[in-house]
Amino acid sequence: MLGLRYVACDDCDTVWAVPAADPAVSGPCPDCGGGSVTEVTDRLGDASYFLAERE
Ligand SMILES: [Zn+2]
Repeated sequence: MLGLRYVACDDCDTVWAVPAADPAVSGPCPDCGGGSVTEVTDRLGDASYFLAERE
Protein backbone atom coordinates (compact mmCIF):
# COMPACT_ATOMS: atom_id res chain seq x y z
CA MET A 1 0.00 0.00 0.00
CA LEU A 2 2.86 2.35 -0.86
CA GLY A 3 3.91 2.64 2.75
CA LEU A 4 0.67 4.21 3.84
CA ARG A 5 -1.99 3.10 6.26
CA TYR A 6 -5.49 4.45 6.35
CA VAL A 7 -7.47 5.30 9.40
CA ALA A 8 -11.05 6.47 9.78
CA CYS A 9 -12.76 8.43 12.52
CA ASP A 10 -15.71 6.65 14.09
CA ASP A 11 -17.33 10.01 14.82
CA CYS A 12 -17.04 12.09 11.65
CA ASP A 13 -16.07 9.36 9.17
CA THR A 14 -13.05 11.30 8.02
CA VAL A 15 -10.51 9.00 6.41
CA TRP A 16 -6.89 9.93 6.16
CA ALA A 17 -3.57 8.35 5.40
CA VAL A 18 -0.63 8.04 7.73
CA PRO A 19 2.87 6.79 6.99
CA ALA A 20 3.15 3.08 7.68
CA ALA A 21 5.96 3.83 10.09
CA ASP A 22 3.77 6.15 12.12
CA PRO A 23 2.30 4.25 15.08
CA ALA A 24 -0.26 6.98 15.77
CA VAL A 25 -3.33 5.22 14.44
CA SER A 26 -5.27 5.53 17.66
CA GLY A 27 -6.33 8.36 19.90
CA PRO A 28 -8.31 11.52 19.21
CA CYS A 29 -9.35 12.32 15.68
CA PRO A 30 -7.13 15.05 14.20
CA ASP A 31 -10.11 16.45 12.33
CA CYS A 32 -12.93 16.70 14.88
CA GLY A 33 -10.75 16.18 17.94
CA GLY A 34 -13.00 13.52 19.39
CA GLY A 35 -14.23 10.02 18.95
CA SER A 36 -11.87 7.22 18.23
CA VAL A 37 -10.07 6.20 15.08
CA THR A 38 -9.98 2.79 13.47
CA GLU A 39 -7.43 1.55 11.00
CA VAL A 40 -9.21 0.73 7.76
CA THR A 41 -6.25 -0.17 5.59
CA ASP A 42 -7.65 -3.66 5.04
CA ARG A 43 -11.03 -2.26 4.05
CA LEU A 44 -9.34 0.03 1.57
CA GLY A 45 -7.78 -2.88 -0.26
CA ASP A 46 -9.87 -2.01 -3.28
CA ALA A 47 -11.51 1.17 -4.46
CA SER A 48 -15.00 -0.20 -3.92
CA TYR A 49 -14.73 1.01 -0.33
CA PHE A 50 -15.27 4.53 -1.59
CA LEU A 51 -18.07 3.59 -3.96
CA ALA A 52 -20.14 1.20 -1.89
CA GLU A 53 -22.73 2.21 0.64
CA ARG A 54 -21.35 2.31 4.12
CA GLU A 55 -23.01 -0.05 6.57
ZN1 LIG B 1 -13.42 12.85 13.63
